[in-house]
Amino acid sequence: MKVTFPHMGETYIALKGFFEDLGVDVVIPPECNKKTLQIGVKYSPETACLPLKVNIGNYVQSIENGADTIVITGSCGPCRFGYYGILEKEILRDMGYDVDMIVFDPPSEDIGRFISRIRKITNNKPVYKVADSLYKGYRIAKELDDMNKMMFAIRPREIKKGEVRRIYGEYQKEIEKAHGTREIFKVIDDNKKKLKDVRIDADRKVLKVGIIGEIYTVIEPFVNLYIEEKLGDMGVEVDRSMNVSEWIETNMFSKLLGFNSERDIDKAAENYLKTAIGGHAKQCIGNAVLYSRKGFDGLIQLLPFSCMPEIVASSILPSVSRNEKIPIMTLVLDELTGESGYITRLEAFVDMLGIRKETKVE
Ligand code: SF4
Repeated sequence: MKVTFPHMGETYIALKGFFEDLGVDVVIPPECNKKTLQIGVKYSPETACLPLKVNIGNYVQSIENGADTIVITGSCGPCRFGYYGILEKEILRDMGYDVDMIVFDPPSEDIGRFISRIRKITNNKPVYKVADSLYKGYRIAKELDDMNKMMFAIRPREIKKGEVRRIYGEYQKEIEKAHGTREIFKVIDDNKKKLKDVRIDADRKVLKVGIIGEIYTVIEPFVNLYIEEKLGDMGVEVDRSMNVSEWIETNMFSKLLGFNSERDIDKAAENYLKTAIGGHAKQCIGNAVLYSRKGFDGLIQLLPFSCMPEIVASSILPSVSRNEKIPIMTLVLDELTGESGYITRLEAFVDMLGIRKETKVE
């Protein structure tokens, strides 16, 4: 059995460590690229959401490299994510690929089924080993999120431009070669040490922008056209409203233990959206309110074209912007998004935020 899974930003690194510790052969799809998108666009329904199209590209590229089993997370929420597994299997079958598709529903829905599916892939490894590897996988996700936060803070302040990019490039080559959680932890740790040594201008005034919206688009740099890097180069410190370790905490730990780790977000969204309508619409609204209270200069909402929950959120955000007094720009992404127009919009937004901040200070 050779297992593969979608890239989803750096999520694949945590999954790779988890499976390799349990002795499972994994095939990592190449970094998302134009070819990945072309394959997905060609074989997916035209109106399918962008993440599904990129997933299909990832799978095909992995199958061509020997993968025969696909692992994805599932959900029974009210958006299209709930039927991704079935739809993706059908698309691959129409293309002539007969692969196993194993869908992991959140463990809070049925912990027994969750563990037994993992044991099936891992040739019935003992439960304590599975639990240990799961925890290490979660720790990797947490470390990766910390590392990204460091890069977001350093990039707009670096004295020698391009240092973070250079270090990150080296890290990517190393992480590709790492096998199992122990080696992965070491590569991340080494990279963090290098980042700490980057010379920065700590007094430089930078703008702070929160990235809100649909989770896949927020965490997958190829899909959001490397927005964090672009904004960092424009002198902006970004903050991701969502990341994988928090997703694991919410969907695995807190639900299993019966508490709500998103209480603050729900409370902040209360005046605008009371019901969970699928995807991360409620989190998008709640985070927008919280960012404004934390004094952020502006927000950018990312949404894949035709994403139902985020379309609803985008219709609410103008009220949030007015009431909470924070500028918000929405960027819709699909396979036709052009990079030059995208950069122009980012530059205009950043200029506006800069002028607004100076005027306020004066
Ligand atoms: S949140 Fe949006 S993009 Fe993601 S699966 Fe649901 S509809 Fe598609």
